[in-house]
Amino acid sequence: MPTAVAPKTFKNYIDGEWVEPRGTRTIEDRNPANRDEIVGIFPASDKTDIANAVEAAKQAFGKWRLTPAPKRAEILFRAAELLVERKEDYARDMTREMGKVLAETRGDVQEAIDMTYLMAGEGRRQFGHIAPSELPDKFAMAVRAPAGVAGMITPWNFPMAIPSWKIMPALICGNTIVLKPAEDTPLSTYNLVQVLEESGLPGGVLNVVFGDGPDAGAPILDSPDVTLVSFTGSTEVGRIVSKACAPTFKKCHLEMGGKNIIIVMDDANLDLAIDSAVWGGFGTTGQRCTAASRVAVHKKVYREFVERFVEKVKKLRVGDGLDPKTDMGPCINEQQLNTVMKYVEIGKNEGAKLATGGHRLDAGALAKGWFHEPTVFTDCNAKMRICQEEIFGPVVAVIPFDSFDEAIEIANGVQYGLSASIYTRNVNNAFRAQRDLETGIVYVNAPTIGAETHLPFGGTKNTGNGHREAGLAALDFYSEWKTVYFDYSDRLQRAQIDNVE
Ligand code: NAD
Repeated sequence: MPTAVAPKTFKNYIDGEWVEPRGTRTIEDRNPANRDEIVGIFPASDKTDIANAVEAAKQAFGKWRLTPAPKRAEILFRAAELLVERKEDYARDMTREMGKVLAETRGDVQEAIDMTYLMAGEGRRQFGHIAPSELPDKFAMAVRAPAGVAGMITPWNFPMAIPSWKIMPALICGNTIVLKPAEDTPLSTYNLVQVLEESGLPGGVLNVVFGDGPDAGAPILDSPDVTLVSFTGSTEVGRIVSKACAPTFKKCHLEMGGKNIIIVMDDANLDLAIDSAVWGGFGTTGQRCTAASRVAVHKKVYREFVERFVEKVKKLRVGDGLDPKTDMGPCINEQQLNTVMKYVEIGKNEGAKLATGGHRLDAGALAKGWFHEPTVFTDCNAKMRICQEEIFGPVVAVIPFDSFDEAIEIANGVQYGLSASIYTRNVNNAFRAQRDLETGIVYVNAPTIGAETHLPFGGTKNTGNGHREAGLAALDFYSEWKTVYFDYSDRLQRAQIDNVE
């Protein structure tokens, strides 16, 4: 709802203080369901602000790395408790700035809660290795050591969950942080930082600088004092990040785009597969890296699937995510809406059949937002651009196939490798699929979305560069293995030489 009160102006968080940016430029955080509503005004920071944040993080690292991990964990436990208390308020803030429906923004905050508890628990674990030495009177072990200052750049579609996926493991491992959240959704990251500050996180350990990519993101990558970088966003920007990290050999973690698929075999539970395709394709308005933007259906059940799937999609109610009757919210901004409309034209020109949707929605109350109809193309060829390129909106392409092998070929025939799903009751095909699908995440009889925080998350090919978010895998990114040998023999012992007779 528009408010007569002037929107709140926010500041950066550097060295434990909320500080004005150096410049005067600002970014308006607007509600994509009603662009007249300004949710907040945030700084458009520049390289000087980033330099200050990096310096604060560098100074704080000396003390934070020596703070025992179980003590760091106590702060995280308190933060998780506060997030639980404020879940509803933070979910509402998120719907206002991001547009997705309340059930989903509650899920986003819950993901941050889960990740914070998970990593708090790791404060008393972070186990290393102890191994026997090949030499007598010698002790060998490997322990985790903090890496240093972690730079983080995050996208708008999971504005609290994704920052938490990076912040919590980095903190528990003893790193300090400079984070630049997405310009479209700064409030949810602000809320997360607020909670960590109130939970007793020492100044300088986490620094947040708001702004756009080139001005506030790029200087993080260029800073010689940033040791590692974790980026989630488009493959296009990921490539820029990767290149920028190379000259200073920063450890660089990239989570990028996807073109995920649901495969529906002829023996699938069709009711379940249809419900899942609706949720996987149109949840978060299709703006999930794991969105099921392709559905491949066996020709034996194709006609029935298409008919019933399209019927269900037509019934989706589009509107403001704060309205409990809404199933699907708006696109995040005008640019994203234009991308969706561009791909609808591409699909039509490629000869795909537009089965439903295909238009912007701008009648009545929807005129003030970036709404688009849930759109389904059927009879698609897997090589069409709408089946190859990430659209990141409410557009699903349905592709018919003849055999299991063909379905796997279609699934793997894209540049991305994030998430894939198969609906079948045939256990042999289910096992073959989980082995042969070239994605970081595979679901059997569940949609492509629905990752849980205690398991590794990430993708192959142009989706990722080999690292994983979440689970214990996150600890491997945010720590360095340090191998330590203790020789208590009091003599020179040469490995590989003195023990060979
Ligand atoms: P984006 O790449 O446009 O922006 C991501 C972040 O990078 C933003 O904070 C932006 O300000 C920053 N940025 C942009 N240009 C930059 C530059 N030159 N230097 C440094 N930083 C820069 O992506 P988006 O539109 O925010 O998010 C959508 C994309 O994110 C989709 O491709 C989606 O698949 C992907 N995504 C991936 C995952 C995953 O885990 N694989 C999760 C969520 C989103």
